[in-house]
Amino acid sequence: MSVLIYAENADGKFKKSIFEAVSYAKAIADQKRTNLVAISIGDVAADELAALGKYGAEKVLNVSNDKLKNFVNQAYASVIAEAAKAQGADIVVLSNSFSGRGLAPRVAVKLQAGVADGAVALPEQNGGKFTIKKTAFSGKAFAVVELTSANKVIALTPNSYKVVETGGTAQVEDFTVETKESDFKQMLKEIVRSTDKVSLPDAEIVVSAGRGLKGPENWGMVEELADLLGAATACSKPVSDAGWRPHSEHVGQTGIAVSPNLYIAIGISGAIQHLAGISSSKVIVVINKDAEAPFFKVADYGIVGDAFDVLPKLIAAVKEYKA
Ligand code: FAD
Repeated sequence: MSVLIYAENADGKFKKSIFEAVSYAKAIADQKRTNLVAISIGDVAADELAALGKYGAEKVLNVSNDKLKNFVNQAYASVIAEAAKAQGADIVVLSNSFSGRGLAPRVAVKLQAGVADGAVALPEQNGGKFTIKKTAFSGKAFAVVELTSANKVIALTPNSYKVVETGGTAQVEDFTVETKESDFKQMLKEIVRSTDKVSLPDAEIVVSAGRGLKGPENWGMVEELADLLGAATACSKPVSDAGWRPHSEHVGQTGIAVSPNLYIAIGISGAIQHLAGISSSKVIVVINKDAEAPFFKVADYGIVGDAFDVLPKLIAAVKEYKA
């Protein structure tokens, strides 16, 4: 029984989160002493597909079909499930991206599989039990779930597993699946980019600010620091509610959950609803003028100070470091 990884592309390229998911799937395949097969849907160049071999995929199934050029949840789920059946894969791995979150349960239904979305660690197999650690309650907690079904679908949280290069090139094969009309009841008509900046859910560094910044006119400092660090910008809910920043930047229980390597929180109190969206961040840096702000309890590094003093100094220090 092999392992299948769905390698989702963005404009024909694979992002780092996919290399993480391939590396993760390879580790699962190694645990099972089986091979790893990848599937790609859409227009991706042959060399880009073959490069998945570097992370452990032995074979890449390439589904290139005009009807499947754009992401269609149900149709992509059917293709992935058919590929899993054709390859005899009992474990399907996806990235817990926006589309991965939609695909995981749909693929699971088609394979009658148990699903662990938001996985943050490799599965453990003890005494016939297959358990896996995943985020729960919008990232407020972790849960260890047991998958008791024969088939399993796992969606890996971005930035929770390292990219491992094993070397090698994957053999690329065309894979054809008959699609059904019923798979195209919901169609993607257009993608409208809200920004050309680093996408928040995929960002490795996030510079986030809250009401402590006083008003939208002060976000220049936040954007400058983010640009220097190659980071995405984010904010607390009241900030987006007030229209200081777009809702797409709102992080937390009712917004986006992020899991960057570095989360810099400026003038954010650290309310439980905000922490819900950032608790899987690897390193948390808090800048707040109130030493009692709850955010400091979860911070790896804290700066007690006025953002209007600290940020210009931090920006100058990063510029000096990069010079
Ligand atoms: P404040 O609480 O006003 O905190 C501002 C912070 O800035 C303070 O700690 C202050 O000490 C500091 N500060 C002030 N001036 C400076 C300065 N010059 N320099 C440095 N620091 C300074 N919130 C979210 O963020 N995301 C969510 O998803 C979310 N969902 C919610 C869902 C529900 C059902 C509810 C009830 C609330 C939700 N909230 C959410 C709101 C949440 O409870 C908090 O009210 C919110 O996170 C506070 O935002 P803030 O930290 O920016 O503002």
